[in-house]
Amino acid sequence: MSATARGQGQGKADRAGAAEALRRMAEALKSGAVMLDLQCPVCSSPLFRLRSGEIWCVKCQKRVIVVKEGEEPITAMSDLLLASLEETLLRKLQELNKAMRDEEDIGRLTELTRLISGLLDNLEKVRRISRRRR
Ligand SMILES: [Zn+2]
Repeated sequence: MSATARGQGQGKADRAGAAEALRRMAEALKSGAVMLDLQCPVCSSPLFRLRSGEIWCVKCQKRVIVVKEGEEPITAMSDLLLASLEETLLRKLQELNKAMRDEEDIGRLTELTRLISGLLDNLEKVRRISRRRR
């Protein structure tokens, strides 16, 4: 686990008992937070994604920053979003492919090539994340 707790509301964690933590978890769920399959790096309790998008440890009452690239999206992104992203990327690639076929200006071709390369990178990332979720 490569998350790291940072900042906000320190000091409370030590005094918070398990019952208190449970109560806060219930509260978080009630307010629309989603429990993630990530653990707090400090206290190992399950982390929540708040409606604001922040990842939060209810026990430490700290915001948790997920450091490793690609780690947060894996837990936070829905399969639906990933599928939609993949589709969008493919559609753009198709458009760029067409544009490249008719393009004769070298500068423009270079730009298109760079765009396609970036899209392919993203496509690969999306697919890698999708695979890891399964
Ligand atoms: Zn914690």
